Amino acid sequence: MNILVLGSGGREHAIALKISESPKTTHLFVAPGNAGTASIATNIEIGVNDFGAIKDLVLKEDIKLVVVGPEDPLVKGIHDFFLNDSSLKEIAVIGPQQSAAALEGSKEFAKEFMMRHNIPTAAYQSFTAENLEEGYVFLETLTPPYVLKADGLAAGKGVLILEDLDQAKEELKSMLLDSKFGDASTTVVIEEFLDGIELSCFVLTDGTHYKILPTAKDYKRIGEGDTGLNTGGMGAISPVPFADSAFMDKIEQQIVIPTVEGLKKDKLPYVGFIFIGLIKVKGEPKVIEYNVRMGDPETEVVMPRIKTDLVEVLVAMAEGKLNEIDLEIDSRAATTVMAVSGGYPEAYEKGKEISGTEAITDSLVFHAGTKSTDGKVLTNGGRVIAITSYGKDFREALQKSYQNMEKLHFDGMYYRKDLGFDL
Ligand code: ATP
Repeated sequence: MNILVLGSGGREHAIALKISESPKTTHLFVAPGNAGTASIATNIEIGVNDFGAIKDLVLKEDIKLVVVGPEDPLVKGIHDFFLNDSSLKEIAVIGPQQSAAALEGSKEFAKEFMMRHNIPTAAYQSFTAENLEEGYVFLETLTPPYVLKADGLAAGKGVLILEDLDQAKEELKSMLLDSKFGDASTTVVIEEFLDGIELSCFVLTDGTHYKILPTAKDYKRIGEGDTGLNTGGMGAISPVPFADSAFMDKIEQQIVIPTVEGLKKDKLPYVGFIFIGLIKVKGEPKVIEYNVRMGDPETEVVMPRIKTDLVEVLVAMAEGKLNEIDLEIDSRAATTVMAVSGGYPEAYEKGKEISGTEAITDSLVFHAGTKSTDGKVLTNGGRVIAITSYGKDFREALQKSYQNMEKLHFDGMYYRKDLGFDL
């Protein structure tokens, strides 16, 4: 079977690697891909939102399965685009249809979904420019810190957590009246602050059945001790040590089952990955957010722990037969550490030569922002390379990732050396 993966990050490299290992895969294409995916698949220089060019590629290369990595094409309706085109109808797309992708595309929609299906989450209200004054009144009823969220996609930057009431009011005004986050902040969700420790749960669904993938915890801040600016993610650990079986059972009963059943009840067609951002508050799981795709860098620790043939799993999902799959998970822990460009997540330079990957042993190397030019591999983004290792526990795995990090070089390279410090 010919397969296409859409995206260009470490997440897509990790998914592509798993697909490339399947005997069911004939030709694997990644669009646009990176220098890492180029070594296991054919990269095609097409943007993930260029549906017309994706259609041409799929028909030309007789692709039968499309795996969508990032959220943007899903929220823009790529799955619906395939279903509505008679020449593409038979091609399986992994990722929800547009109506269901709103779980990530609109925070208000996600909160309403959770309320409707009794899924534990922070109390909230949403506001537009018309009821700004009511927003101020609602803020006055809350205790700090105040959580303000732009309703739409804002590249992970649309959430503000503020200690001061006047500042929260000021920010609410600037989001609603001055379009601080463009159209994404036409509506703002104000939430109760939840104090706890975060983790991510990943679920596969065919719309009826589900399978829970390994949990992961990512490290979002640039600085050690979880300080400084938010990034796309500086590393991840799987499984999450504090997510024991009793806690996982709560997640399944209170969150996963109501989510999958809720999608069905609300007629939201969903074949794909559900990424549930969770927080453990006084022993209880609550949902912080839904994402309609895998996380990055969590995929770089979750995929390597799946032992079952991923193509078999994806095909079963597309056929509504996920219940027939016996998902086998590697019992070892996996960790990934991300090397980033100097200056990231603010301004940084690209085009630095990367060396040392060939010296890395006993770990997996996933490329993120990289490209090949004239036989050299160059940096091409903020997050550059993730090194994933296995171990009997996360500490042993981390030690391997860090040993291998020392062999990797590019000008300005930085990585966090304290992952797992809070566990
Ligand atoms: P991401 O960058 O993960 O896509 P996002 O922009 O979609 O984020 P959320 O995940 O909803 O937004 O929030 C971002 C972060 O803000 C969360 O990971 C969490 O640390 C914090 N946060 C969000 N909501 C709350 C809350 N109610 N209480 C405490 N912290 C919160």
